[in-house]
Amino acid sequence: MNSQTWRPKDWKRLLIVPTLILCCVLLASCGPKTGGSAQEEGQALQAAPAGQGDQKEIVENEQGAANSGGQAVDPVMAVRSESSIQATIQEVEGQSVVTNPEAITVIVNKQRGLPEGYEPKDLVEPNVPFSFDGPHEKRMMRKEAAEALEELFAGAEADGIELRAVSGYRSYDRQKVIYETNVRNRGEEAASRVSSTPGNSEHQTGLAMDVSSPSVGNVLEESFGQTVEGKWLAEHASEYGFVIRYLEGAEDRTGYVYEPWHIRYIGTDIAPDLADSVLTVEEYFDETNIKL
Ligand SMILES: [Zn+2]
Repeated sequence: MNSQTWRPKDWKRLLIVPTLILCCVLLASCGPKTGGSAQEEGQALQAAPAGQGDQKEIVENEQGAANSGGQAVDPVMAVRSESSIQATIQEVEGQSVVTNPEAITVIVNKQRGLPEGYEPKDLVEPNVPFSFDGPHEKRMMRKEAAEALEELFAGAEADGIELRAVSGYRSYDRQKVIYETNVRNRGEEAASRVSSTPGNSEHQTGLAMDVSSPSVGNVLEESFGQTVEGKWLAEHASEYGFVIRYLEGAEDRTGYVYEPWHIRYIGTDIAPDLADSVLTVEEYFDETNIKL
């Protein structure tokens, strides 16, 4: 264009280039605001570890949603919706199997099993005091949960509370042995109230840890809930991303008796809201209780 001789009627052509550039800039700046669906935001939030940078990202997502539709999407609600019990289940050979075994928000119970042969890929041993010596798979948790457990134990120690980790990860094969032993000793009905069939234990997710205290001989019994350590755990677990999974008086809804010792990592974004809700995990992630 520059090499050509200037003619007044070329002004239209000259305008085309800057107009195109302006359009591109406008489209690019609109992109993130209109493109972020609730599901994408949920995924971003779920994948993000806690930290200031991530908080900024969430705030930006909220603003983006507000700008596009006029109504902000609550990022916690978005995670609940994405992880809902209805959205994360499939039938495999007549069995109900979860579709998201690696999600921090995965829900496993008597009706919802892990895929056959599932084993978390990032199991590590948290640096906390255990109730037993020697190596064992039950020392392990998934990395994010293990780091959170270390922080929880440090917080307890700072408050003068002495906790012990008793039992974390449990493989399919070991769960099978435990369940079959319980059936032999107690009968099938009683066994299913206190233990899971293989594939249905939260311990197999690598996100659960049974916790007790030397003050009760490190036992896993309901009496732990009445100790100062058990009360501290119930009050503070959610600050570190954990919840007491099997609540008192909720056996009909969780399928398990009250277990004040069983804590489940579910993320620092979800745990405080879940604890405040006084809902079971199953209720909290039920679509009928989720409002987007
Ligand atoms: Zn447990």
